[in-house]
Amino acid sequence: MSKRSSDRRARRAGLTSFRSYLVSTVDASARQARGPTHARQVKLRIVPDRLVVSEVFDSVQGEGPSTGVPSTFLRLGLCNLACVWCDTAYTWDARRFDLQDELRSRSLEEVAEDLAQRALKNLVLTGGEPLLQADALDALVPTLTQRIEVETAGTLAPSPTLLAHVAQWNVSPKLASSGNAVSKRRRDDVLSTFASIDHAYFKLVIADDTDLEEARELLDVHGVPRERTWLMPEGTTPERIAERGRWLADVCTREGFRLGTRLHVVLWGDRRGV
Ligand code: SF4
Repeated sequence: MSKRSSDRRARRAGLTSFRSYLVSTVDASARQARGPTHARQVKLRIVPDRLVVSEVFDSVQGEGPSTGVPSTFLRLGLCNLACVWCDTAYTWDARRFDLQDELRSRSLEEVAEDLAQRALKNLVLTGGEPLLQADALDALVPTLTQRIEVETAGTLAPSPTLLAHVAQWNVSPKLASSGNAVSKRRRDDVLSTFASIDHAYFKLVIADDTDLEEARELLDVHGVPRERTWLMPEGTTPERIAERGRWLADVCTREGFRLGTRLHVVLWGDRRGV
């Protein structure tokens, strides 16, 4: 990918450029000065033949229409949003985490080999925002044998290659409670593309009535059928998920949405790698 095309993609993602994004993500760890800043930047660079990876693990899908399906998770680093309740901030938040320790740049061959050794037939590409690394995913995904799900916040358009190979899109547009500016979190052109794909499911984290109102409006504008929409209670503890889940169960019963949960939080709390 040329610098010009990477900058174009960065602008679409709401970033000034990938270079400035790298500088901002390494800033906190660079201040701790445990190595040359340049080395840190090189390791986090988004390039078409490597992936910035947070973790790879096997578990059960905890959210959305395939909740409970045994799956391998490839969690990629970096995100173009900054949700206040994000439970994977270790993939992007350089103010709270040392991304140099949290993330690794891995070759596509290395990632493919790791995935090929795993027995589970369902693969979830998640993040962070995995579509920030679409060029590398374009090269990797056609070589994989698993059924592929992608989790995205719906701010970046899917590439033709990914559209051809991904069996299920879990699209999670961020609402007011996420704390992101509307101009960053809502891309109607992208949402309209996903709305037109019948294997794209919308999964909305709902914290309160304001989120619920915004979710209804967004789904109606894009004509997303309610049977393709999962409402999910915001929460990082089982108690909070149950409390908000009971409120959302009433909403779903009345309005025809599907009720989602966060199974991994219910089972394990706010833990990584599950
Ligand atoms: S889009 Fe997802 S990964 Fe990015 S900050 Fe929001 S919740 Fe976290």
